Amino acid sequence: MAAGCVSGGAMASGLEDLFGKERPGDPDEAAGERRRALVIAAHPDDADFGAAGTAALLARAGWHVRYVVATDGSKGSDDPAYTPERLVAAREQEQRDAAAILGVRDVRFLGFTDGELTYSRELLGAITREIRDFKPFAVYTHDPEPVIIRDSFVNHSDHRITGLATVDAVYPTARDRLNFPEQIAEGLEPHKVREIYLWGANEPNFRADITEVVETKIAALLAHTSQFPDDREFIEMMRLRWKDAEGRSREEFRRIVLFR
Ligand SMILES: [Zn+2]
Repeated sequence: MAAGCVSGGAMASGLEDLFGKERPGDPDEAAGERRRALVIAAHPDDADFGAAGTAALLARAGWHVRYVVATDGSKGSDDPAYTPERLVAAREQEQRDAAAILGVRDVRFLGFTDGELTYSRELLGAITREIRDFKPFAVYTHDPEPVIIRDSFVNHSDHRITGLATVDAVYPTARDRLNFPEQIAEGLEPHKVREIYLWGANEPNFRADITEVVETKIAALLAHTSQFPDDREFIEMMRLRWKDAEGRSREEFRRIVLFR
């Protein structure tokens, strides 16, 4: 174990050891900040494409990582053997299995209909509630801005809407007590998120080195058995997609550090 580790724990590595030089921010625990990361994704599997490596590294460093999935994944199969109900149940279980592989401690499902997500008070309130409930230091989600990513992918409208509602929930609605005051009346407190990380960004400014956990990320993706073939071609395609010029595997984000 590297110097500077907390003594005694198996998961005691610091972020420096795990992430290398582009490391994420560290909570100020003396000021009451907690080592918590909330990953908010549109569909089951999106969080794993976007941030599974980072989630695994944070979990190894002793962080509590929680996934929130906005939609039910009910449109994600062409297989006539699936009814929407069976598909929803299968994809929830797949997401829980993937999370368990990564050390993500819990997964919550907001249950909006796949492919039909609209920007609404209901969605914004649901995400605001998740942030106030969990009180994360960092929030990871879809970059809401690109319609086209790297001139190669159309960014699904559910992704853009989830990302936009999440950014809006971080600031201002989760932060300010006069937004969704009924949540405050129920006992939830306003919460200030310190950092946002957006995946699917056209202009990433933060590259996490996930080389050490790349096989764990692949295993998490393969847990989505209704979505991906467990074959060499798919796995090699993924490996190539994440590799940089030096042969290291990366997850790329647009990082926003918010003021206290
Ligand atoms: Zn998706």
